[in-house]
Amino acid sequence: MARGVEHGFRQLLDLLFPPACPICHQSVQAVHRLCRNCLDSLPPLPENHCLRCGAHTTRPEPGCGACLNNPHAPDAAYFGFPYHGRVAELILGFKFADRPERSRLLVELCWERLHQALYWEDPDLVIPMPLHVRRLLWRRYNQSALLAGEVSARLGKPLVTDLLIRHKRTRPQTRLNARARRLNVQGAFSVNRPERLHGRSVLLVDDVFTTGATMQAAVATLKRAGAGRVSGLCLARVDPDRP
Ligand SMILES: [Zn+2]
Ligand SMILES: [Zn+2]
Repeated sequence: MARGVEHGFRQLLDLLFPPACPICHQSVQAVHRLCRNCLDSLPPLPENHCLRCGAHTTRPEPGCGACLNNPHAPDAAYFGFPYHGRVAELILGFKFADRPERSRLLVELCWERLHQALYWEDPDLVIPMPLHVRRLLWRRYNQSALLAGEVSARLGKPLVTDLLIRHKRTRPQTRLNARARRLNVQGAFSVNRPERLHGRSVLLVDDVFTTGATMQAAVATLKRAGAGRVSGLCLARVDPDRP
């Protein structure tokens, strides 16, 4: 009887508030889905991009010149989309408009493009890019931890949220140039109980990759603390050639 009531209630809710595409608001089959039109309109990644930082290059593998000369570049980096247009709107809504449930949709969108490479990557641990505790209190959730949770469940690999710590409060990177970004995040991270990391491969999950300064600082900290291979997964990558 109780189950019948619950079912009826859900049907009533679907009738009153049918699941809608979060971009164009047309009705869709299920929540956390885009309609076919919006799905088809999402931009592809540029063809020739470095497999460690996403920059345009004629030599995707083993990486662009900058990555080959940088000991802190991730061993591999996976990006779902270029960061502009509708993808940027969805991510901004997820980060700043208090829409934590959108993590499922965003990972779903990336998954179609990246799942094969991520299964191949086969990390031992999935770790989110941490927020400083003050920013976490202000935003109420770490968007990267929600994304990492979705990724860890899909890969069947453990999610570890208390290992990489952001102990230094940094200024938002948005208005800083590349050099200032590097200085801003220098020494920002530390590792809690590094014995958990020893020789293990890590997939580091973040939402947006801009110059890679934050990713590189985190990679450096993880490797110094004993990690093996460290790769990055970001929903989207800012195109350095776009205004
Ligand atoms: Zn739509
Ligand atoms: Zn590169």
